[in-house]
Amino acid sequence: MKEVTLTLADEHATVAMGKQLANITKQLNLDNLLVFLNGDLGAGKTTLTRGFVQGMGHTGNVKSPTYTLVEPYELSPWHVYHFDLYRLADPEELEYMGIRDYFSIKSCSFIEWPEKGAGVLPQEDLIINLQYNDTHRLITLLAATSKGEQIINLIT
Ligand code: ADP
Ligand code: MG
Repeated sequence: MKEVTLTLADEHATVAMGKQLANITKQLNLDNLLVFLNGDLGAGKTTLTRGFVQGMGHTGNVKSPTYTLVEPYELSPWHVYHFDLYRLADPEELEYMGIRDYFSIKSCSFIEWPEKGAGVLPQEDLIINLQYNDTHRLITLLAATSKGEQIINLIT
C-alpha cells in the first residue's frame, strides 16, 4: 500500500494540506472520493477538512458536525460531505440517514471516526492518520484504492 508521511508545523500547514487535497481532486477530476480520518480528539481532523472544504470553493465557516453527524456543502461541481461519527451509537443509523445517497453523486466525503460506521461505510480511497508531535502534527496518508494512489503521487 502506497503511503506518505509529512510534518505539519502549525494549524496553517494543516489547512494548506487540506487545500492541496482539494486541488489534486480537481486536477484528477475525480468522480467520487472517500477519505477516512483517524486521530485523537484535537489531532486536526476537522482543521484538515476545513482546508479541503474551502479549497473546493466554500467561503463561509466550517463547523464540526459532532451533533449532526454530517455537514453538507453542496458546492459545484462536487458536493462535499463532512461526517463526524463520534456520537454514532450504531452503524445502522447510517442506513436510516440514507448514507448511500451521499456517495452516489459527484461527491467527496471526509469522515472522522470512520470505525463507528464499520460495515456500512463503502470502501475508502484514502486513510489519513494525524498524530500529535509536540505542537506539530504528523500526517500519514495511505492509499486504499488506485484513486488514493493517484492522489498520493501528486502530494508535495
Ligand atoms: P479534531 O477534529 O481531530 O478533533 P480539530 O481540528 O478540531 O481536531 O482541532 C485541532 C486543534 O489543534 C485546534 O484547536 C487547532 O488550533 C490546534 N492545532 C495546533 N497545531 C495544529 C496543527 N499543526 N494542525 C491542526 N491543528 C492544530
Ligand atoms: Mg473534529
